[in-house]
Amino acid sequence: MRFFKGIFALVEGMKMVACHLFRAATTVQYPEERDKFGSRLRGCLAINVDKNGEIECVGCRSCIRVCPCIDAIKIESEKINGGVIINKFEIDKGKCILCGNCVFVCPKGVLKMTSEYEMADSDKTVFIRGIDEMSRFEEEEG
Ligand code: SF4
Ligand code: SF4
Repeated sequence: MRFFKGIFALVEGMKMVACHLFRAATTVQYPEERDKFGSRLRGCLAINVDKNGEIECVGCRSCIRVCPCIDAIKIESEKINGGVIINKFEIDKGKCILCGNCVFVCPKGVLKMTSEYEMADSDKTVFIRGIDEMSRFEEEEG
């Protein structure tokens, strides 16, 4: 009886293999090939900057309040002459879980999610991105 059960399981398995032989592959040979992702992909964060390289951040810290990760966003700002100067704006992409909360809540559209998804690194310090690094990625993205 066990013999026939084994034969039956083998035939079932071969049937499955035969079905997939004639289907298009759903996997790609990464990293030589890369899949195309939709525009709604939540990749690494970037900052929207204007032509002068300035960000429109008003220092409200709404992004920090909605962020579920401690210290994923660090902002240092000061009020001068009725305006706000941003002295430091950093995202730690090693802590960010790419939830997108900060993007949705920002009243100035400062943050956006990019298509960058290859973030692995052995050096933790490269995960911390300041305005320059984040806006540079934005430029590269086009
Ligand atoms: S995407 Fe989410 S986890 Fe990442 S910085 Fe924004 S709110 Fe925090
Ligand atoms: S929510 Fe937007 S404007 Fe407010 S501190 Fe964060 S990035 Fe700046």
